[in-house]
Amino acid sequence: MKPEKIEDGIYLIGGSDISDSRDCMVYLLDLGELVMIDTGTGPGLSKIISNVRYFGLDPAKISSVILTHCHIDHVGGAHELKKRYGARIIMHDLDADVVERGDTKMTAAYWYGVPFSPLKIDVRLSEKEERLVFGEQAVVCLHTPGHTPGSISVYLDKSGKRILFGQDIHGPFMSEFGSNIDHWQGSMENLLGLNADVLCEGHFGIYRPNKKVTDYIERYLKEYGDRPLCQ
Ligand SMILES: [Zn+2]
Ligand SMILES: [Zn+2]
Repeated sequence: MKPEKIEDGIYLIGGSDISDSRDCMVYLLDLGELVMIDTGTGPGLSKIISNVRYFGLDPAKISSVILTHCHIDHVGGAHELKKRYGARIIMHDLDADVVERGDTKMTAAYWYGVPFSPLKIDVRLSEKEERLVFGEQAVVCLHTPGHTPGSISVYLDKSGKRILFGQDIHGPFMSEFGSNIDHWQGSMENLLGLNADVLCEGHFGIYRPNKKVTDYIERYLKEYGDRPLCQ
């Protein structure tokens, strides 16, 4: 994949074959200020930043970073974004402690063989659903536990379309990460109920229209529905 304009003001700027093989898919919202959704593992950050410029945008305008959960492939670039641009870091309360204490096991940094130092979270989300406003655009963060206890999904309604950043919909589910399949099933039902037009997934790409979004989520619900949790 390549950096891609997904919709007006919505871009794909990082991923395993864009910035670093260990990176999740990294998305950028241009809402007057720039908002990043996830950051990759860290080593690919300079490529991610150059992709912000590639779309004619100024990385100094990155005001906020929404972290969908605590894993290193999503949070590893956040320290540098905070240091360079003063970006405020937003994530769910239930995953925030792991990041704030620099826990290399729960963030999976140890597995990835990359260092991870404690990172202060500026905004902790704790509601089932929280509405953040950037410029004049509302961005909704939904608590979608399952992969980790504090996993969130993010969506916005823009130009008549609902765009959903589901991130690690596909799992995996590991007891040592605090995964919970029952919680995940409930979360996926909530995502299906959103009727999104576009799904931006955490590692596997961008799905549209709505039928493909629904098929994608339902495929995983079917696949994992009866499977016990990995140990
Ligand atoms: Zn993950
Ligand atoms: Zn991931």
